[in-house]
Amino acid sequence: MVVGGGIAGFSAAVVLAERGVRVTVVEAEDTVGGRLGAWPHRLPDGTEQVVEHGFHAFFRQYYTWRAILRRADPSLAVLRPVGGYPVIAGRWPDEDLTGLPAAPPLSLLALFARSPSLGVRDLTGANRGLALELLGYHPARTAAALDRISAAEFLDRLSLSERARTMLFEAFARSFFCDPRAMSAAELVAMFHFYFLGNPEGLGFDAPRTDYLHGIWRPLIDYLGGRGAEVRTGGRVRAVEPVAGRRWRVVLDSGTALTARHVVLALDPGGLRGLLAGSDGLRAAAPELARRVEALRLAEPFAVSRLWLDRDVAPGRAVFSAVTGEDTLDSVTCYHRLEEPSARWAARTGGSVLELHSYACTEPDAERATARMRAELARLWPETRAAAVPHRVERLRGGAPAFPPGQLGRRPRVCGDAVGVRVAGDFVELPFCAGLMERSAMSGVLAANDVLAEEGAAAEPVDGVPQRGLLAGWTRLTRRSSRF
Ligand SMILES: Cc1cc2nc3c(=O)[nH]c(=O)nc-3n(C[C@H](O)[C@H](O)[C@H](O)COP(=O)(O)OP(=O)(O)OC[C@H]3O[C@@H](n4cnc5c(N)ncnc54)[C@H](O)[C@@H]3O)c2cc1C
Repeated sequence: MVVGGGIAGFSAAVVLAERGVRVTVVEAEDTVGGRLGAWPHRLPDGTEQVVEHGFHAFFRQYYTWRAILRRADPSLAVLRPVGGYPVIAGRWPDEDLTGLPAAPPLSLLALFARSPSLGVRDLTGANRGLALELLGYHPARTAAALDRISAAEFLDRLSLSERARTMLFEAFARSFFCDPRAMSAAELVAMFHFYFLGNPEGLGFDAPRTDYLHGIWRPLIDYLGGRGAEVRTGGRVRAVEPVAGRRWRVVLDSGTALTARHVVLALDPGGLRGLLAGSDGLRAAAPELARRVEALRLAEPFAVSRLWLDRDVAPGRAVFSAVTGEDTLDSVTCYHRLEEPSARWAARTGGSVLELHSYACTEPDAERATARMRAELARLWPETRAAAVPHRVERLRGGAPAFPPGQLGRRPRVCGDAVGVRVAGDFVELPFCAGLMERSAMSGVLAANDVLAEEGAAAEPVDGVPQRGLLAGWTRLTRRSSRF
């Protein structure tokens, strides 16, 4: 039984169903996909479009998630390269770091050579001890050295120029749905390693050429169906309780109860907390899991506004731009230059389809978040100021995990103290360095592997980026001389 039909739940279900395990996925919402979910939406002009929780970048080092997608799409035809990926700001020129050599240390040297934000002052003026911590990621040591301070404090002490800090690090930290003041510095260093310094695939990423419903979820549902798995939507699980014979009873809001020997809890962090709160027997059987789940914190809500404009933006605008230095706007995606259904709508109407994101949004509602993001965009892309917006879909939602200082070693792990119950999701503490969608997929596969291990079957291989930073050996040698 897999509770939760997002990336983590589907990744577990795919591996288990392939090995002949009888799998049922139970998803609370009417559509699967969780935060990558997508659903049909009719525009006022009658056009049928699919809208989503938001644009997603499919990085090339997402080996596990891509391997799951390949099950239903062997050549990954659904993905296309997004091309340049600039960071844009009102105060400084755009900066595009794609196309750097993929492998460290060349990527790092090229970053210093190419990035106008990193000057000689950054090289000579940075706190050397902390700069080495950044380059010398080591899972246990980085956690011990940096988990008690925030990413913002780390960046303050690193003493980079304001430009380097804003252009290279602030945008990066916020893309984890975290205000840098509320994010662990250890998590920032781990993610910097995973996405940049330790990433052998380079900074480029791909994105689906069509909507996620048709490009990802329907093919995966068909794949699971072909292997005897069942996907039930619209069924919120309210409790999981132990029953005789080392089995678990999964109780839905409707009152339906299903029993299973193995359960994978692949919910979002808020959903998992709610489920544990309603599951007395599970809490009693797994006090350690209950403590770890109770300690989970949620990030600020994220705002996503899809806008159908009456005109196009300037021809040179990138498909995806990260925005930094603004209060609310964190990214803008030109959907009509990326996704086929949006491109068809734009070609027919002469308009454009933009999606604006705010990853840690402090506005009180979706309408005000949209207004704020539009005003900020108008300063960056003046051609959008006079554009009419005949239609928009906007959302302000919580649900992403927070990674506050002091939490490493205390978040839920895949296997806990309840035999037969595993946890998967993008908040789970993994033995391997991975982030966001890849963390979800990897935790799902590791949960499936634990089921397979209990049944005496071989594990599904899991690939990852190198698990140590380039200078991981140096930080130990230099720690004593560090000012930190
Ligand atoms: C706007 C936005 C942009 C993003 N951009 C990127 C990006 O560019 N790159 C990237 O890698 N990641 C990105 N992410 C993050 C990514 O979406 C998540 O990391 C990932 O989708 C999480 O998957 P999951 O399966 O762990 O959790 P979820 O997707 O949250 O799935 C959990 C599922 O459990 C279900 N559930 C909850 N409670 C219950 C219950 N009681 N009973 C049954 N079901 C329940 C939920 O409905 C949900 O479907 C983005 C997220 C958002 C919101």
